[in-house]
Formats: sequence, structure tokens, C-alpha cells
Amino acid sequence: MYLKKIEIYGFKSFANKVELEFKDGITAVVGPNGSGKSNIADAVRWVLGEQSVKSLRGSKMEDVIFSGTQKRKPLGYAEVSLVIDNQSGKLPIDYNEVRITRRVFRSGESEFYINKSSCRLKDIHQLFMDTGLGKEGYSIVGQGKIDEILNASLQDRRYIFEEAAGIVKYKTRKNEAEKK
Ligand code: ATP
Ligand code: MG
Repeated sequence: MYLKKIEIYGFKSFANKVELEFKDGITAVVGPNGSGKSNIADAVRWVLGEQSVKSLRGSKMEDVIFSGTQKRKPLGYAEVSLVIDNQSGKLPIDYNEVRITRRVFRSGESEFYINKSSCRLKDIHQLFMDTGLGKEGYSIVGQGKIDEILNASLQDRRYIFEEAAGIVKYKTRKNEAEKK
């Protein structure tokens, strides 16, 4: 299973439709500061269902839509698709190639698609569960994340391990229950 292609339209700095093709193996994306390298990783996490606008470096979901420049008008929606090679059958779906799409409008409403059929965010989460991909899979290590872990206080570092172990949700629920 590997990422074959990303199609980006209207997401962050990508005003034109861009198609990035990847081969099996290692790909490096290079470019000057602010040219959009991290926006590509944001796009991947976003399609996989990232709902935290802070981790997408914005303050509201609308911030992922191309906001215009002096020469170009803002766009009305953003759309990103991932095309994943599934010849290994790791994704529990009967297709050799799987296309996942997310679209968001300025109203904040997101639409999700698996192989062009409309679906729920939950279906995307279920598709990637236990595959090592997916937004909780630590398959993307963000800029500064390693420094953050090394420099973190013991308590903050514990949080990272708890998150990796999947127990943060239980702790959060426990804290909420105790507050009531
Ligand atoms: P660095 O090397 O500093 O990490 P980078 O290549 O990772 O840079 P990004 O963070 O991907 O750069 O891109 C930042 C650029 O994306 C900024 O110029 C910012 O203005 C632009 N950008 C972010 N959101 C939007 C948006 N909604 N509309 C238009 N441009 C946007
Ligand atoms: Mg960057």
C-alpha cells in the first residue's frame, strides 16, 4: 500500500489544480520557505480526516480554502484527493486503487468520498483503522515534532505516550465525568 497521487485544488496556497505523483519508495519535496511544502502534508492529513484546525495551522476550517492574493480572488471551496495503491489488499476494500476525497465549502461543511461515492468521516476512519495510515497513525511527523518531544516536560511527554497508546480519550472522558 502506498500513496500514488495527490490532487489538490483550492487548498491553502494551491489555487490551481495540482497533481503530485509518487512512485513506490522515497520522495523528497524541496523548495524555499513558504512555498507550500508543509501545505502538502496538511492536505494529506486533512483528507485522512484531520478535524483540528490548530494542527492544520489555522483558526477555523475555512482557513484551508485558498484565501486569494493581490492578483487572484479567493476560491469558494477546497478539494483534495489521495489515490492509494491497494494491490496488497491492506485496505479492507475490494479495489486495487482507492481514491479518498474531501471537499470543504466556506460554510465549513465537509464532504467525504471513497472512490467517488459519498461517505461519512467515520467510514474514512474505519477504512484506515489498524493500517498504520490514518490521521492517528503517526504516519506524519510534523515540523518541530521531534524537538517538541525531546524538549517536553515529563508531563507533556507522558501525554504523547498516552496518546500513542490510545488512552487519552478515556482519560478525557474520566476527567469530564469527574467534573459533573
Ligand atoms: P517552510 O520551509 O518555512 O516550512 P513551507 O514550504 O512548508 O515553508 P508552507 O507552510 O507549506 O511553506 O506554506 C505557507 C504558505 O501558504 C504561506 O505563504 C501562506 O500564505 C500560504 N497559505 C496558507 N494558507 C493559505 C490560504 N488559505 N490561502 C492562500 N495561501 C495560504
Ligand atoms: Mg514547512
